[in-house]
Amino acid sequence: MKPLIAGNWKMNGLADAASEIEALIAKMDGSAPADRDVAVCPPATLLAGFAARYSDEAIQFGGQDCHAEASGAHTGDISAEMLADAGAAFVIVGHSERRADHGETDAAVRAKAEAALRAGLTPIICVGETQEERSTGRAFDVVRTQLAGSVPTSGPRSGPLADDDYVIAYEPVWAIGTGLTPTLEDIAEMHEDIRERTGAGARILYGGSVKPANAAEILRVRNVNGALVGGASLKANDFYAIVAAAAG
Ligand code: PEP
Repeated sequence: MKPLIAGNWKMNGLADAASEIEALIAKMDGSAPADRDVAVCPPATLLAGFAARYSDEAIQFGGQDCHAEASGAHTGDISAEMLADAGAAFVIVGHSERRADHGETDAAVRAKAEAALRAGLTPIICVGETQEERSTGRAFDVVRTQLAGSVPTSGPRSGPLADDDYVIAYEPVWAIGTGLTPTLEDIAEMHEDIRERTGAGARILYGGSVKPANAAEILRVRNVNGALVGGASLKANDFYAIVAAAAG
């Protein structure tokens, strides 16, 4: 399966961050590697500009969230159609920071993922347990419940959901931005459990403190089909090192 390395810039980046995209493209020799997909999800303020300036280059772009509806009276929100119109190919939905900060439920996340499919985007659907849920032995139950509630049951135009319509990102909440990571065995176990509940060909990314130093070993774990990268995606050098670690 072709790995996807996706960068989540979160609420970071002003116009001058274009230099990081340019540095990344330069490191990739200006063309997408045939054996990996590379995407950056910048803040919405930068998305259209980046996608217009760097289309046909080595990387694709994505949004960090979308509203479930296509348009309407939702001040401050952005629809999946708007992201697609801005040049996005992906959208992250159900990131734990949105689940926590904005009270997003599994049903809300599923509605956003369905909106992404409707707009022709690939949703990157995030799931993952908290530290307390892991230490009390509930990690698998939590992730299974999130998967059952957040992943659409039908694909674009109400057809069946195909494996390449969506991407799952397993992101233990306690590993995000902390420098902590699960053991490779724990990652393997959870990814195997997710695999049993998703299509055989659906990409399952690992996210949570992926860095240049640990990317290669994490990306070699069975059923890890790429990474969702936060902090280390902000600097071209670090993000490129992770992209390079995904080479086949
Ligand atoms: C994320 O926010 O999706 C993430 C994985 O962050 P970090 O890599 O900084 O842990």
